[in-house]
Amino acid sequence: MDPRTKLTIILFLLGVAVTLGYAFACWVWPFKACPRCDGTGKRRSPSRRAFRVCRRCDGSGRRLRAGRWIYNHLASVRRDAR
Ligand SMILES: [Zn+2]
Repeated sequence: MDPRTKLTIILFLLGVAVTLGYAFACWVWPFKACPRCDGTGKRRSPSRRAFRVCRRCDGSGRRLRAGRWIYNHLASVRRDAR
C-alpha cells in the first residue's frame, strides 16, 4: 500500500470517528443553550427590568442541537414510511 492510500484511509477513519463522536454527543446531550436568550428563556427589554418569553425556544431556554434535529427528522420520516 502506498503512503497516499494509507493517508486517505486514516483521514476517512478519522472523519468517521468524529462523526460517530458527534452523533453520540447529540444522543447524550441533545440540547444546547438558546443563542437568542443565552438559555434563560427570557428576552429582556432595553431597560433590563421587563422581559417577555423568548419566542425562539418558547421560554425553555434550550434548543435542539443540529445533529439531534437531523436524527429526529430521519426518525419521523422512517415512522411515516411504515
Ligand atoms: Zn431562547
